[in-house]
Amino acid sequence: MADVIIIGSGPAGVSAALYTARAGLNTIILSMGSGALAKAEAIQNYYGFSSPVSGQALAQAGIEGAKNVGVHFETGEVVGVGFDENLIVETAAQSYQADFVILATGSPRATPRIPGIEAFEGKGVSYCAVCDAFFYKGKNVCVLGTGEYAIHEIAALQPVAASITLLTNGEKPSAELPDGVMVNTTKISAITGDDRVEKVQLADGTEIATDGIFVAYGVAGSTALARKIGAQIDGNKIVVDENMATNVPGLYAAGDCTGGLLQISKAVYEGAKAGMEISKLARKIR
Ligand SMILES: Cc1cc2nc3c(=O)[nH]c(=O)nc-3n(C[C@H](O)[C@H](O)[C@H](O)COP(=O)(O)OP(=O)(O)OC[C@H]3O[C@@H](n4cnc5c(N)ncnc54)[C@H](O)[C@@H]3O)c2cc1C
Repeated sequence: MADVIIIGSGPAGVSAALYTARAGLNTIILSMGSGALAKAEAIQNYYGFSSPVSGQALAQAGIEGAKNVGVHFETGEVVGVGFDENLIVETAAQSYQADFVILATGSPRATPRIPGIEAFEGKGVSYCAVCDAFFYKGKNVCVLGTGEYAIHEIAALQPVAASITLLTNGEKPSAELPDGVMVNTTKISAITGDDRVEKVQLADGTEIATDGIFVAYGVAGSTALARKIGAQIDGNKIVVDENMATNVPGLYAAGDCTGGLLQISKAVYEGAKAGMEISKLARKIR
């Protein structure tokens, strides 16, 4: 059991961790490695450098600094967040519990550009199996994805759906599939239907009749994780108050995932704000 789990080791997550660890809270950062920052070749608009610094070097220095104050780093792809008595963070391998969780997962992932996907959102296209599986009791559903995140969504659907087909849209599945799940690797040309999703049209001219499609492409992004735990989102950003708190008690968000200025300085500020707020609250409940 950790005091604080931070998902993401970019400027927002690491900045938050500096505050919580220095306040004496047991802090774990879970991440899949570098985010947007490492993609920046040279940064010239961040305080404190006489000449441009590479994003990779800045990210590494931030992580080293956090390790030096006792932040514990673990590598893992977070596929779900939830709660029972405590907040729960799930990777494919493990489930973690914490009093506080900070989502610092960067910009939301792009959804695949498949005609019909946006038009049928909420009409058969879902981004959260935990939230919507029950509506598909006894129905035939598809999950769009290839990896651990898709497998996590399949696990939530298996107890209720009549059949599940994994659609990989031209890619190879990258995780082991549970028994009983069908796979179709053909590229998808469109999702069609009348008022609701009815069919997936494939590039080879065939089609699959379906009642619903769960999008779990790539890695679970910030909005997908927020949806799972019932945190409010607005478009593709997580809604937070002035202390970076979401509407879910104990759950905070910081950095690119809250929208606005997509810059290091803003991510660092929001991380600091979330970290300070959590440190203050933790002192009160102890
Ligand atoms: C090419 C490029 C150039 C840029 N140049 C500049 C610049 O010059 N100046 C500037 O101020 N800003 C620049 N930026 C923007 C800056 O990099 C971002 O604003 C900043 O990195 C946001 O920090 P963050 O912590 O919110 O997210 P990120 O840095 O994106 O970190 C996200 C973290 O979340 C982790 N993560 C995501 N999903 C999961 C999951 N499911 N499970 C586990 N971990 C997960 C990732 O592994 C990563 O550790 C640039 C961005 C890019 C792409």
